[in-house]
Amino acid sequence: MPRKMRPQSRPKPSGFAKALADTSKVETLLLGDMQKYVLKRADEERRDDIIHPSEMAKPDWCPRATAFRLAGVEPTNEDPRNGSVRLLTIFQEGHDIHNKYQTYLYEMGRLYGLWRCIACRKETWGVSITECPHCGVKGALQYREIPLTDEPHLPMAGQADGGVNDLNALLEMKSIGTGTLRIEDPALLRKHTHKAADTGKTLVDLEGLWRGIKRPLRAHRIQGTIYLYMARRSGMNYDKMIFIYENKANQGTKEFHIPYNEDLIADVLDMAKDVDWAVKTNRTLPRPQGFTRDKRPCKDCVFQRRCWEGEEGEQDSPPQPETGDGRVVVRRSRPSRAAEDPAAEPARVRVSRTPRRSDQPGRRRPDGAVQPDPEVGGVPGRPTGNGRGRRTVRRRRTGAHPGGQEPNA
Ligand code: SF4
Ligand SMILES: [Zn+2]
Repeated sequence: MPRKMRPQSRPKPSGFAKALADTSKVETLLLGDMQKYVLKRADEERRDDIIHPSEMAKPDWCPRATAFRLAGVEPTNEDPRNGSVRLLTIFQEGHDIHNKYQTYLYEMGRLYGLWRCIACRKETWGVSITECPHCGVKGALQYREIPLTDEPHLPMAGQADGGVNDLNALLEMKSIGTGTLRIEDPALLRKHTHKAADTGKTLVDLEGLWRGIKRPLRAHRIQGTIYLYMARRSGMNYDKMIFIYENKANQGTKEFHIPYNEDLIADVLDMAKDVDWAVKTNRTLPRPQGFTRDKRPCKDCVFQRRCWEGEEGEQDSPPQPETGDGRVVVRRSRPSRAAEDPAAEPARVRVSRTPRRSDQPGRRRPDGAVQPDPEVGGVPGRPTGNGRGRRTVRRRRTGAHPGGQEPNA
Protein backbone atom coordinates (compact mmCIF):
# COMPACT_ATOMS: atom_id res chain seq x y z
CA MET A 1 0.00 0.00 0.00
CA PRO A 2 1.58 3.29 -0.99
CA ARG A 3 2.18 5.58 1.91
CA LYS A 4 1.16 9.19 1.63
CA MET A 5 -0.11 8.70 -1.91
CA ARG A 6 -1.03 12.07 -3.28
CA PRO A 7 -3.54 12.78 -6.02
CA GLN A 8 -2.06 14.28 -9.18
CA SER A 9 -3.80 17.58 -8.88
CA ARG A 10 -4.07 19.30 -5.55
CA PRO A 11 -7.52 18.56 -4.12
CA LYS A 12 -9.85 21.22 -2.89
CA PRO A 13 -9.84 21.69 0.87
CA SER A 14 -11.61 18.76 2.41
CA GLY A 15 -12.71 17.49 5.76
CA PHE A 16 -11.87 19.80 8.61
CA ALA A 17 -9.96 22.16 6.33
CA LYS A 18 -13.10 22.69 4.27
CA ALA A 19 -15.29 22.91 7.35
CA LEU A 20 -12.87 25.48 8.74
CA ALA A 21 -13.00 27.44 5.49
CA ASP A 22 -16.81 27.22 5.46
CA THR A 23 -17.09 28.68 8.93
CA SER A 24 -15.49 31.87 7.57
CA LYS A 25 -18.68 32.41 5.60
CA VAL A 26 -20.80 32.56 8.75
CA GLU A 27 -21.81 36.15 9.27
CA THR A 28 -21.89 36.35 13.03
CA LEU A 29 -19.94 38.24 15.65
CA LEU A 30 -19.13 35.24 17.80
CA LEU A 31 -20.75 32.00 16.63
CA GLY A 32 -18.46 31.60 13.62
CA ASP A 33 -15.37 31.87 15.82
CA MET A 34 -16.77 29.27 18.20
CA GLN A 35 -17.52 26.91 15.32
CA LYS A 36 -13.95 27.29 14.06
CA TYR A 37 -12.64 26.57 17.53
CA VAL A 38 -14.78 23.45 17.93
CA LEU A 39 -13.70 22.10 14.54
CA LYS A 40 -10.03 22.75 15.25
CA ARG A 41 -10.27 21.12 18.65
CA ALA A 42 -12.00 18.03 17.26
CA ASP A 43 -9.35 17.77 14.55
CA GLU A 44 -6.55 17.91 17.09
CA GLU A 45 -8.14 15.40 19.41
CA ARG A 46 -8.97 12.69 16.92
CA ARG A 47 -6.11 10.29 16.38
CA ASP A 48 -5.80 9.06 12.83
CA ASP A 49 -3.12 6.46 13.52
CA ILE A 50 -5.26 4.01 15.45
CA ILE A 51 -8.43 1.99 14.94
CA HIS A 52 -11.30 3.46 16.90
CA PRO A 53 -13.67 1.00 18.64
CA SER A 54 -16.53 3.26 17.57
CA GLU A 55 -15.72 2.66 13.89
CA MET A 56 -15.24 -1.07 14.46
CA ALA A 57 -18.70 -1.23 15.98
CA LYS A 58 -20.45 0.18 12.93
CA PRO A 59 -22.37 -2.39 10.91
CA ASP A 60 -20.83 -1.00 7.71
CA TRP A 61 -17.27 -0.66 8.98
CA CYS A 62 -14.80 -0.84 6.12
CA PRO A 63 -11.39 -2.19 7.23
CA ARG A 64 -10.00 -1.24 3.83
CA ALA A 65 -10.73 2.43 4.52
CA THR A 66 -9.26 2.18 8.01
CA ALA A 67 -6.11 0.58 6.58
CA PHE A 68 -5.83 3.42 4.05
CA ARG A 69 -6.01 5.93 6.89
CA LEU A 70 -3.48 4.15 9.08
CA ALA A 71 -1.11 3.79 6.15
CA GLY A 72 -1.22 7.54 5.63
CA VAL A 73 -2.95 7.42 2.25
CA GLU A 74 -4.04 10.92 1.33
CA PRO A 75 -7.83 11.30 1.18
CA THR A 76 -9.17 11.83 -2.33
CA ASN A 77 -12.69 12.89 -1.37
CA GLU A 78 -14.27 15.33 1.01
CA ASP A 79 -15.67 13.94 4.22
CA PRO A 80 -19.25 15.19 4.38
CA ARG A 81 -19.49 14.53 8.11
CA ASN A 82 -16.51 16.66 9.02
CA GLY A 83 -18.02 19.55 7.15
CA SER A 84 -21.01 19.55 9.43
CA VAL A 85 -20.75 21.95 12.33
CA ARG A 86 -24.15 20.65 13.41
CA LEU A 87 -22.69 17.18 13.79
CA LEU A 88 -20.03 18.55 16.09
CA THR A 89 -22.68 20.26 18.14
CA ILE A 90 -24.41 16.90 18.40
CA PHE A 91 -21.13 15.34 19.56
CA GLN A 92 -20.82 18.08 22.14
CA GLU A 93 -24.30 17.27 23.40
CA GLY A 94 -23.13 13.69 23.90
CA HIS A 95 -20.10 14.92 25.81
CA ASP A 96 -22.31 17.06 28.01
CA ILE A 97 -24.34 13.99 28.94
CA HIS A 98 -21.12 12.21 29.93
CA ASN A 99 -20.16 15.19 32.00
CA LYS A 100 -23.46 15.20 33.83
CA TYR A 101 -23.36 11.56 34.93
CA GLN A 102 -19.63 11.67 35.64
CA THR A 103 -20.27 14.60 37.95
CA TYR A 104 -22.94 12.69 39.86
CA LEU A 105 -20.62 9.73 40.28
CA TYR A 106 -17.73 11.97 41.27
CA GLU A 107 -19.80 13.61 43.96
CA MET A 108 -20.97 10.19 45.13
CA GLY A 109 -17.30 9.22 45.55
CA ARG A 110 -17.53 6.35 43.06
CA LEU A 111 -15.94 7.59 39.83
CA TYR A 112 -12.76 5.76 38.92
CA GLY A 113 -10.43 6.85 36.17
CA LEU A 114 -7.51 9.04 35.24
CA TRP A 115 -7.24 12.54 36.67
CA ARG A 116 -5.06 15.36 35.45
CA CYS A 117 -4.03 18.15 37.75
CA ILE A 118 -4.37 21.49 36.00
CA ALA A 119 -1.81 22.97 38.40
CA CYS A 120 1.11 20.56 37.94
CA ARG A 121 -0.17 18.71 34.81
CA LYS A 122 0.57 15.33 36.37
CA GLU A 123 -1.86 12.46 36.03
CA THR A 124 -3.15 10.06 38.66
CA TRP A 125 -5.46 7.04 38.61
CA GLY A 126 -8.01 6.87 41.37
CA VAL A 127 -11.60 7.11 42.63
CA SER A 128 -13.19 10.57 42.86
CA ILE A 129 -9.89 12.26 43.68
CA THR A 130 -10.20 15.67 45.32
CA GLU A 131 -6.58 16.57 45.94
CA CYS A 132 -3.57 16.18 43.65
CA PRO A 133 -1.19 13.65 45.25
CA HIS A 134 1.75 15.28 43.45
CA CYS A 135 1.42 18.96 44.32
CA GLY A 136 -1.33 18.92 46.97
CA VAL A 137 -3.57 21.40 45.15
CA LYS A 138 -7.26 20.79 45.85
CA GLY A 139 -10.12 21.01 43.37
CA ALA A 140 -7.91 21.27 40.31
CA LEU A 141 -8.35 17.80 38.86
CA GLN A 142 -9.76 17.19 35.42
CA TYR A 143 -11.36 13.84 34.74
CA ARG A 144 -9.71 12.13 31.78
CA GLU A 145 -12.09 9.14 31.80
CA ILE A 146 -10.52 5.71 31.19
CA PRO A 147 -8.12 5.77 28.25
CA LEU A 148 -7.64 2.30 26.83
CA THR A 149 -5.40 0.84 24.22
CA ASP A 150 -4.23 -2.49 22.92
CA GLU A 151 -0.98 -1.05 21.59
CA PRO A 152 1.58 -2.33 20.82
CA HIS A 153 -0.34 -5.51 19.97
CA LEU A 154 -2.99 -3.83 17.88
CA PRO A 155 -3.18 -0.15 16.92
CA MET A 156 -6.50 0.21 18.67
CA ALA A 157 -7.44 2.77 21.31
CA GLY A 158 -10.45 4.42 22.81
CA GLN A 159 -11.84 5.84 25.97
CA ALA A 160 -14.51 4.43 28.27
CA ASP A 161 -16.71 7.05 29.90
CA GLY A 162 -15.90 5.88 33.39
CA GLY A 163 -15.39 3.03 35.81
CA VAL A 164 -17.29 2.00 38.92
CA ASN A 165 -14.95 -0.32 40.76
CA ASP A 166 -17.41 -1.35 43.48
CA LEU A 167 -19.54 -2.86 40.68
CA ASN A 168 -16.51 -4.07 38.70
CA ALA A 169 -17.96 -2.24 35.70
CA LEU A 170 -17.00 0.16 32.98
CA LEU A 171 -19.53 2.77 31.97
CA GLU A 172 -20.85 4.15 28.73
CA MET A 173 -23.37 6.98 28.55
CA LYS A 174 -25.25 7.44 25.30
CA SER A 175 -27.73 10.01 24.15
CA ILE A 176 -30.36 8.37 22.01
CA GLY A 177 -32.38 10.09 19.32
CA THR A 178 -34.04 9.13 16.07
CA GLY A 179 -30.74 9.80 14.28
CA THR A 180 -29.00 7.17 16.42
CA LEU A 181 -31.69 4.60 15.72
CA ARG A 182 -31.81 5.37 11.99
CA ILE A 183 -28.24 4.07 11.85
CA GLU A 184 -28.14 1.53 14.68
CA ASP A 185 -31.61 -0.02 14.64
CA PRO A 186 -33.56 1.02 11.54
CA ALA A 187 -36.05 -1.84 12.01
CA LEU A 188 -37.11 -0.47 15.41
CA LEU A 189 -37.45 3.01 13.96
CA ARG A 190 -39.59 1.68 11.10
CA LYS A 191 -41.79 -0.16 13.57
CA HIS A 192 -42.57 3.09 15.36
CA THR A 193 -42.95 5.27 12.29
CA HIS A 194 -46.52 5.74 11.06
CA LYS A 195 -48.43 7.74 8.51
CA ALA A 196 -51.00 10.10 9.98
CA ALA A 197 -54.43 9.12 8.66
CA ASP A 198 -55.61 12.70 8.16
CA THR A 199 -52.55 14.51 6.80
CA GLY A 200 -50.59 11.57 5.37
CA LYS A 201 -47.50 12.90 7.13
CA THR A 202 -44.91 10.45 8.44
CA LEU A 203 -44.71 10.61 12.22
CA VAL A 204 -42.37 8.90 14.65
CA ASP A 205 -43.93 7.62 17.86
CA LEU A 206 -41.11 8.79 20.12
CA GLU A 207 -42.58 7.32 23.30
CA GLY A 208 -43.12 3.93 21.67
CA LEU A 209 -39.66 4.06 20.16
CA TRP A 210 -38.05 4.70 23.52
CA ARG A 211 -40.09 1.96 25.17
CA GLY A 212 -39.04 -0.36 22.34
CA ILE A 213 -35.37 -0.21 23.31
CA LYS A 214 -35.09 -3.34 25.41
CA ARG A 215 -31.34 -3.82 25.37
CA PRO A 216 -28.24 -1.88 24.36
CA LEU A 217 -27.94 -1.30 20.64
CA ARG A 218 -25.68 -3.71 18.85
CA ALA A 219 -23.04 -1.11 17.97
CA HIS A 220 -22.90 -0.07 21.62
CA ARG A 221 -22.56 -3.66 22.77
CA ILE A 222 -19.63 -4.16 20.41
CA GLN A 223 -17.96 -0.89 21.32
CA GLY A 224 -18.43 -1.56 25.03
CA THR A 225 -17.05 -5.07 24.73
CA ILE A 226 -13.97 -3.79 22.90
CA TYR A 227 -13.39 -1.41 25.82
CA LEU A 228 -13.71 -4.30 28.27
CA TYR A 229 -11.32 -6.34 26.13
CA MET A 230 -8.68 -3.59 26.17
CA ALA A 231 -9.19 -2.95 29.88
CA ARG A 232 -8.76 -6.62 30.73
CA ARG A 233 -5.63 -6.90 28.63
CA SER A 234 -4.24 -3.94 30.59
CA GLY A 235 -4.88 -5.55 33.96
CA MET A 236 -8.25 -3.95 34.74
CA ASN A 237 -10.44 -6.99 35.09
CA TYR A 238 -13.84 -5.40 34.70
CA ASP A 239 -16.47 -8.01 33.99
CA LYS A 240 -19.36 -5.94 32.75
CA MET A 241 -20.33 -2.79 30.90
CA ILE A 242 -23.09 -0.57 32.18
CA PHE A 243 -24.88 1.60 29.64
CA ILE A 244 -26.85 4.65 30.63
CA TYR A 245 -29.12 5.83 27.85
CA GLU A 246 -30.66 9.26 27.85
CA ASN A 247 -33.52 10.06 25.55
CA LYS A 248 -32.72 13.21 23.58
CA ALA A 249 -36.40 14.00 23.22
CA ASN A 250 -37.39 14.02 26.90
CA GLN A 251 -34.26 13.21 28.96
CA GLY A 252 -35.76 9.89 30.07
CA THR A 253 -33.11 7.45 31.23
CA LYS A 254 -32.55 3.71 31.02
CA GLU A 255 -29.84 1.48 32.31
CA PHE A 256 -28.62 -1.79 30.84
CA HIS A 257 -25.63 -3.94 31.52
CA ILE A 258 -23.92 -6.70 29.62
CA PRO A 259 -21.40 -9.24 30.86
CA TYR A 260 -18.03 -9.48 29.16
CA ASN A 261 -18.37 -11.80 26.19
CA GLU A 262 -15.39 -11.89 23.86
CA ASP A 263 -17.33 -13.87 21.26
CA LEU A 264 -19.26 -10.75 20.44
CA ILE A 265 -16.13 -9.05 19.15
CA ALA A 266 -14.17 -12.00 17.75
CA ASP A 267 -14.90 -10.99 14.17
CA VAL A 268 -14.19 -7.31 14.52
CA LEU A 269 -10.94 -8.08 16.34
CA ASP A 270 -9.96 -10.31 13.44
CA MET A 271 -10.80 -7.51 11.05
CA ALA A 272 -8.68 -5.12 13.10
CA LYS A 273 -5.84 -7.61 12.81
CA ASP A 274 -6.39 -7.62 9.05
CA VAL A 275 -6.00 -3.86 9.07
CA ASP A 276 -2.80 -4.04 11.08
CA TRP A 277 -1.45 -6.78 8.83
CA ALA A 278 -2.31 -4.86 5.67
CA VAL A 279 -0.59 -1.71 6.91
CA LYS A 280 2.51 -3.55 8.08
CA THR A 281 2.83 -5.63 4.92
CA ASN A 282 1.95 -2.82 2.53
CA ARG A 283 -1.14 -4.53 1.14
CA THR A 284 -4.55 -3.28 0.21
CA LEU A 285 -7.48 -5.11 1.77
CA PRO A 286 -10.36 -6.17 -0.46
CA ARG A 287 -13.55 -4.17 -0.44
CA PRO A 288 -16.15 -5.67 1.85
CA GLN A 289 -18.62 -7.71 -0.13
CA GLY A 290 -21.68 -5.86 -1.34
CA PHE A 291 -20.15 -2.41 -1.07
CA THR A 292 -21.19 -0.21 -3.96
CA ARG A 293 -19.39 2.87 -5.12
CA ASP A 294 -22.43 5.12 -5.20
CA LYS A 295 -24.00 3.99 -1.95
CA ARG A 296 -23.01 4.45 1.67
CA PRO A 297 -20.50 4.02 3.10
CA CYS A 298 -18.50 4.27 -0.16
CA LYS A 299 -20.46 7.35 -1.27
CA ASP A 300 -19.22 9.25 1.79
CA CYS A 301 -15.78 7.67 2.01
CA VAL A 302 -12.77 9.98 1.87
CA PHE A 303 -10.87 7.31 -0.09
CA GLN A 304 -13.60 6.62 -2.62
CA ARG A 305 -11.73 7.81 -5.72
CA ARG A 306 -8.55 6.07 -4.64
CA CYS A 307 -10.46 2.89 -3.86
CA TRP A 308 -12.37 2.66 -7.15
CA GLU A 309 -9.60 4.06 -9.35
CA GLY A 310 -9.58 2.42 -12.79
CA GLU A 311 -12.94 0.75 -12.23
CA GLU A 312 -15.20 3.43 -13.67
CA GLY A 313 -17.53 0.81 -15.11
CA GLU A 314 -17.76 -1.15 -11.86
CA GLN A 315 -20.59 -0.52 -9.45
CA ASP A 316 -20.06 -3.37 -7.03
CA SER A 317 -17.09 -4.85 -5.25
CA PRO A 318 -15.23 -7.26 -7.51
CA PRO A 319 -15.68 -10.88 -6.49
CA GLN A 320 -11.94 -11.53 -6.17
CA PRO A 321 -9.84 -10.08 -3.40
CA GLU A 322 -7.49 -7.29 -4.27
CA THR A 323 -4.00 -7.09 -2.88
CA GLY A 324 -1.33 -4.55 -3.26
CA ASP A 325 1.20 -6.99 -4.61
CA GLY A 326 -0.93 -9.51 -6.44
CA ARG A 327 -0.69 -12.13 -3.72
CA VAL A 328 -3.76 -14.21 -3.12
CA VAL A 329 -5.70 -13.56 0.02
CA VAL A 330 -8.30 -15.94 1.32
CA ARG A 331 -11.76 -14.90 2.27
CA ARG A 332 -13.82 -16.47 4.93
CA SER A 333 -17.20 -15.71 6.32
CA ARG A 334 -17.85 -14.19 9.71
CA PRO A 335 -19.62 -16.85 11.70
CA SER A 336 -20.00 -15.36 15.13
CA ARG A 337 -22.47 -12.62 14.26
CA ALA A 338 -24.95 -15.25 13.17
CA ALA A 339 -24.00 -17.35 16.16
CA GLU A 340 -24.81 -14.50 18.47
CA ASP A 341 -28.09 -13.64 16.84
CA PRO A 342 -29.68 -16.06 14.37
CA ALA A 343 -31.88 -13.27 13.09
CA ALA A 344 -28.91 -11.08 12.28
CA GLU A 345 -28.24 -9.97 8.74
CA PRO A 346 -26.02 -12.27 6.66
CA ALA A 347 -22.40 -12.04 7.64
CA ARG A 348 -20.14 -10.00 5.42
CA VAL A 349 -17.35 -11.85 3.75
CA ARG A 350 -13.92 -10.72 4.77
CA VAL A 351 -10.31 -11.33 4.06
CA SER A 352 -8.23 -13.55 6.23
CA ARG A 353 -4.55 -12.83 6.30
CA THR A 354 -3.55 -15.96 8.20
CA PRO A 355 -5.15 -18.80 10.08
CA ARG A 356 -6.73 -17.74 13.34
CA ARG A 357 -4.15 -16.33 15.69
CA SER A 358 -3.03 -18.60 18.44
CA ASP A 359 -3.27 -15.83 21.03
CA GLN A 360 -7.04 -15.83 20.83
CA PRO A 361 -9.05 -18.02 23.10
CA GLY A 362 -11.45 -20.46 21.53
CA ARG A 363 -14.90 -19.10 20.92
CA ARG A 364 -17.28 -19.73 23.71
CA ARG A 365 -20.96 -20.14 23.29
CA PRO A 366 -22.53 -16.71 23.38
CA ASP A 367 -24.85 -16.56 26.34
CA GLY A 368 -26.77 -13.60 25.00
CA ALA A 369 -27.20 -12.48 28.58
CA VAL A 370 -28.17 -8.91 27.98
CA GLN A 371 -30.21 -7.92 30.96
CA PRO A 372 -32.46 -4.93 30.82
CA ASP A 373 -32.58 -3.31 34.20
CA PRO A 374 -35.27 -1.18 35.70
CA GLU A 375 -35.18 2.38 34.54
CA VAL A 376 -33.28 4.63 36.84
CA GLY A 377 -34.99 7.66 38.16
CA GLY A 378 -33.74 11.19 38.49
CA VAL A 379 -30.26 11.58 39.87
CA PRO A 380 -29.79 14.32 42.44
CA GLY A 381 -27.03 16.82 42.02
CA ARG A 382 -25.95 19.58 39.74
CA PRO A 383 -25.04 18.87 36.14
CA THR A 384 -21.83 20.78 36.52
CA GLY A 385 -18.43 19.91 37.83
CA ASN A 386 -14.86 19.12 37.18
CA GLY A 387 -14.83 16.78 34.24
CA ARG A 388 -15.37 18.20 30.80
CA GLY A 389 -16.03 14.72 29.52
CA ARG A 390 -13.85 15.30 26.46
CA ARG A 391 -12.96 12.11 24.76
CA THR A 392 -9.36 12.95 24.07
CA VAL A 393 -7.09 10.08 23.28
CA ARG A 394 -3.54 11.13 23.83
CA ARG A 395 -0.85 9.90 21.53
CA ARG A 396 1.33 8.50 24.27
CA ARG A 397 0.66 8.10 27.92
CA THR A 398 3.28 7.33 30.45
CA GLY A 399 2.59 5.55 33.67
CA ALA A 400 -0.04 2.95 34.30
CA HIS A 401 -3.29 2.71 36.19
CA PRO A 402 -3.00 1.23 39.69
CA GLY A 403 -3.77 -2.26 38.46
CA GLY A 404 -1.11 -1.64 35.85
CA GLN A 405 0.09 -5.01 34.79
CA GLU A 406 1.51 -5.36 31.35
CA PRO A 407 -1.10 -6.47 28.81
CA ASN A 408 -1.30 -10.21 29.13
CA ALA A 409 -0.76 -11.03 25.49
S1 SF4 B 1 -14.81 3.45 -1.03
FE1 SF4 B 1 -15.99 1.90 0.04
S2 SF4 B 1 -14.84 0.00 -0.11
FE2 SF4 B 1 -13.49 1.68 -0.71
S3 SF4 B 1 -12.37 2.18 1.17
FE3 SF4 B 1 -14.13 3.50 1.09
S4 SF4 B 1 -15.80 2.47 2.21
FE4 SF4 B 1 -14.19 0.98 1.76
ZN1 LIG C 1 -0.88 18.68 40.93
